[in-house]
Amino acid sequence: MIFGRPTERHLSRRTASNCVPRASNPPMRLLITFLLRTPAPLLLVTPDTEFLTHHAEPPRGFEKTGDDLYARPRQFPTNLLATFPAFGPPSVIVIGEPRNTTSKTSTPWLITLMHEHFHQLQNAQPRYFQTVQDLGLSHGDSTGMWMLNYPFPYEQSEVAESFASLRSLLLSAVNETDKEKFAKLGKQYVLERKKFFARLSSDDQKYLGFQLWQEGIARYTEIKAAEAAAQYQPTAEYAALSDFEPFTTYAAKVKTETLNELRQADLAKMKRLAVYSFGAAEGLLLDRLDSKWKDGYFEHLLSTDSFFEK
Ligand SMILES: [Zn+2]
Repeated sequence: MIFGRPTERHLSRRTASNCVPRASNPPMRLLITFLLRTPAPLLLVTPDTEFLTHHAEPPRGFEKTGDDLYARPRQFPTNLLATFPAFGPPSVIVIGEPRNTTSKTSTPWLITLMHEHFHQLQNAQPRYFQTVQDLGLSHGDSTGMWMLNYPFPYEQSEVAESFASLRSLLLSAVNETDKEKFAKLGKQYVLERKKFFARLSSDDQKYLGFQLWQEGIARYTEIKAAEAAAQYQPTAEYAALSDFEPFTTYAAKVKTETLNELRQADLAKMKRLAVYSFGAAEGLLLDRLDSKWKDGYFEHLLSTDSFFEK
């Protein structure tokens, strides 16, 4: 599948918009460089109208209403939050206004947007769609809904229970500040993670690995984006929004909120949604186990298993 490359116009527009926080550490600089090179079409769904921006070739039915802005009457639900090739590749972020989505206010909404933009980066990998197909888990579904509805044994008591104990170990490791204790917990986690995966069927292993790679690390990216944005001085227009929350305040709580969510995660009840906080915490753990793990993230599509081999 061929994906459109971002044009110079896109790059200069995004760079000039000065919307990127200054990144002092190399991995974050690298991530931002990647993100800037990734196509970032966005469809904003408002009650009456859908606005499309950053799209190299706006599809039929859209009328130009401003500089790099196109509009059509609304078709998608106003609370939608998804990234998919709505008009064929590249993937488009389709998102409602903050108050209509689960984000509710502008700052969490913007960080969620970074999560969705990370999906665009995942989708833009040349082998992405083929590799997803090669998982062989769709069982004839061509809509992509299988990614949400795959019959993973969330409610099987042995699975839910061993997930819960693996989760506790993960939280202990992530929260451990003593170096020696952390090294011990990290090793123990790697061992127990392998045992947990080994007890699943081959398809279930692939599915869980895929979800942790895709959604867990996208949630991890939210934490990192919020932390990077903490150093960013928002524009006067943004700071004047009635629901304005400084990035510093938000960054301070987003990691804690994710870990709290994981602490309360009951696989049997939360089902697929448990992978978000779980995978995010695994990202935080990997930062301490192997600071270079991100360099290999796109080399190993759809599974983070290889980072837990060492
Ligand atoms: Zn996502």
